[in-house]
Amino acid sequence: MPSLLNVTPDEVPTFVTHLECSYTGKQYPADQLIGLSEAGKPLLVRYDLEAVRRAFSKDCLKERVGEFWRYRELLPVRQTKSIVRLGEVMTPILPADTIQKDYGCGEILIKDEGRLPTGSFKARGIALAVAMAKELGVKRMAMPTNGNAGAALAAYCGAAGIETFVFCPEDTPEVNVKEIAFLGAKTFLANGLITDCGKVVGAGKNAMGWFDTSTLKEPYRIEGKKTMGLELAEQLNWTLPDVILYPTGGGTGLIGMWKAFNELESIGWIGSERPRMVAVQAEGCAPIVKAFDEGNRHAEPWEGAHTIASGVRVPAAVGDFLILDAVRESGGFACAVSDDAIDISHKECAEREGILLCPEGAATLAALKQELGSGRIKKHESVMLFNCATGLKYPMESSHHKIDLKREVDFEWIRDC
Ligand SMILES: *Cc1c(COP(=O)(O)O)cnc(C)c1O
Repeated sequence: MPSLLNVTPDEVPTFVTHLECSYTGKQYPADQLIGLSEAGKPLLVRYDLEAVRRAFSKDCLKERVGEFWRYRELLPVRQTKSIVRLGEVMTPILPADTIQKDYGCGEILIKDEGRLPTGSFKARGIALAVAMAKELGVKRMAMPTNGNAGAALAAYCGAAGIETFVFCPEDTPEVNVKEIAFLGAKTFLANGLITDCGKVVGAGKNAMGWFDTSTLKEPYRIEGKKTMGLELAEQLNWTLPDVILYPTGGGTGLIGMWKAFNELESIGWIGSERPRMVAVQAEGCAPIVKAFDEGNRHAEPWEGAHTIASGVRVPAAVGDFLILDAVRESGGFACAVSDDAIDISHKECAEREGILLCPEGAATLAALKQELGSGRIKKHESVMLFNCATGLKYPMESSHHKIDLKREVDFEWIRDC
């Protein structure tokens, strides 16, 4: 990793040309405050990739700090003073060698995103969204969240001096709710799902004068999540794994990585080979899996969504067609795992690899096991799993023992515990 002596890429030009509706292709000028396109679909940031190709080289990266702002030429922020830094480290890729031997399969790599600020990969998207909001003069932001996005928003907005309103469904992990409030966001726990909270944010836009930072309802969170794709490609020396298993809620990360690979090919840093993208969901909330299996381009809202993997408890995603397009174009698939399977993989990875996954990360391991069984993932394929958050943010089953120090210590009992 580059040392602290290396330079931050602060004085680089920006190559953004325009925004584009991901559904109709209609173009919109960049540098304006905007949410969805007129068609009600996500907007994508477009760059002059020919110019990026001329100005940016793999060698440039050698001099830069090990943070995701190292890919500045492929990011939309124009002014360095808009950037709020909380330590956007490049996250490690950990080989799960023991589990690989247990399963008798190809290489298993875990990209551990729990090392990012506020303990989840939501920091990537939110860092970009907040930098752009600051650049465009936003004073108030709001979002619905299952926890991690709200925590990242509270942290980055707090540091940027932007007022923040966060709405959480009542089954959001408690530590997340406390974290969001402690970081200074006005925090509300609502008796509904994330989609219901999203309606509150949408309805309050005019009266409250806040900018809606919901997943894919502004153009920049995807650009932040895109850095996962840029980063993993660089870390694997500009090669890509055969399969990527991604726990999919709103799908920002999957869509962002797919965009990253296409942009990397356009600037000549990788070839046309791509990983097969697998969208992993929970059986209790699997709208993308249902749409994939039925051959549909859009997903119907999922009724009665429930799963312990709160990050993927997303009954309806605005970017459903972008997720499904990427999965299909890559030759991948979508699959759902049960909460019981998530629990088993969670414990397995903790004990066998020393890696405390979040339940969503555990879902990707459960999916790997399931699909090695089904044959949809082959024994020779290299696989990357995403651990999206630190496991410390989630409830853990306690399996410790109590010991009474007022009595004589019974070592035989301790040995047999
Ligand atoms: C948000 C989140 C997800 C889903 O990410 P998307 O890119 O929105 O699909 C998965 N896991 C965790 C821990 C999350 O916080």
